[in-house]
Amino acid sequence: MVHKRSLRLLVKQLERLIMQYISFALLFHPAAYQPGEACAAVAEGGTSSAATLLLCRACGHELAVGTDINFVPSRLALSSRNDTSIGGRRINVQLFENPHGHQFEVITFRKANVTQHWPANKHFSWFPGFSWTAATCPRCKTHLGWAFQPTDWPDTITENRFEESEHTFLALITQRLLREDFASSLLVTPQSFKS
Ligand SMILES: [Zn+2]
Repeated sequence: MVHKRSLRLLVKQLERLIMQYISFALLFHPAAYQPGEACAAVAEGGTSSAATLLLCRACGHELAVGTDINFVPSRLALSSRNDTSIGGRRINVQLFENPHGHQFEVITFRKANVTQHWPANKHFSWFPGFSWTAATCPRCKTHLGWAFQPTDWPDTITENRFEESEHTFLALITQRLLREDFASSLLVTPQSFKS
């Protein structure tokens, strides 16, 4: 008779391995990365407020508001630039490169409505002292960026612990975000269709 307990353990280990592989694959093989693409989240003009909603560009799911943005500088960034189109605030956009040569422009957030994939990985972190997990869209599963937690924390923590700590943050890929006011400007009914 197969030992149920060891089978369950094996399945658990397998699940853990698969999740690790997915996080790793997401970091190194971004599906939809287009280096030349304009930054939709911060560069598409128009007036906005600090409460500007930031959406998943792929499905429109609400991810964060402008006030969730919080600059976390990294000495590993290839470059850093300012952008002022979210609520007139200065938003720092940093450029990073992963070990496979893929570059990502990211904005750092205090919190965001994303799905995280623990256990966290200590290797190849863009923020020294922090481990990362992949962060995906809760609705369409698009890879949106990474979440960071202190390296000396356990690899797997609860969502609550992540959210409540001041030592955690996220780096979301600018090209995968869309500003809500830009999205609604796409949906404005032309004058001629109104009665
Ligand atoms: Zn989405």
